[in-house]
Amino acid sequence: MIVSGIEGSSFLDYPGMLSCVLFTQGCNYDCFYCHNRALIGHKNGFIGYQEIESFLKKRVGFLQAVVISGGEPTLHDSLPQYFSLAKSLGYLAKLDTNGSRPGVLLELLEAGLLDYVALDVKAPWARYREIAGKGADPVNVQRCVSLLQEYQLMHPSFQWEVRTTLAPTLMKEDLLEIAGMLPEVNRWALNFYRTPKEYKEEDGMRINQPALSEREVFGMQERLLLLQPNLKRVR
Ligand code: SF4
Repeated sequence: MIVSGIEGSSFLDYPGMLSCVLFTQGCNYDCFYCHNRALIGHKNGFIGYQEIESFLKKRVGFLQAVVISGGEPTLHDSLPQYFSLAKSLGYLAKLDTNGSRPGVLLELLEAGLLDYVALDVKAPWARYREIAGKGADPVNVQRCVSLLQEYQLMHPSFQWEVRTTLAPTLMKEDLLEIAGMLPEVNRWALNFYRTPKEYKEEDGMRINQPALSEREVFGMQERLLLLQPNLKRVR
């Protein structure tokens, strides 16, 4: 079992589509601002495959897409089985990933199991481990960016986006650096920071620091749009 939670319907998780979201258990990052801290631990999920299958079958014709999010979905060997199920039922399939496992991403792409990928880019490359924990290797994220670019060139209907959470300690210059270090992406989605309910005690100081506000980002949007014309505010 890899799934620990289901959101039954959402208009926010697959742009333009009504989707459900399956949340997988376990993550190899440790972002200090994580809102899904209960999903980080590596234990079994508690919603079985057959339950997911029955859930998805009942919603054919109502939902348009299935999003698999985390935790980090690519840690699970059975992930292709879940995407195959979704595709066999006629759903569009989206993966949310932290970009830590480009090999798994490539396998899913080559198997034609993905219609959309949302890739987290959490910080300037040099600050990656500080923001996302010791297990975060920015080289893997860079490899994912290249794979997604290459795949889209060959499959024009495929969509992908980069997502960045405006966590405390990320400053204006960091945001500009992220915008400049990426190729021009189809969609760069910014998530404005909300203080998580749960966090590690040692992170209390930075958790409660102010993060970039909508007003501050609005004030720098011209510079950001020059680097990334497809900038979007999401949540
Ligand atoms: S990648 Fe970071 S934010 Fe996402 S689930 Fe893992 S620890 Fe949480």
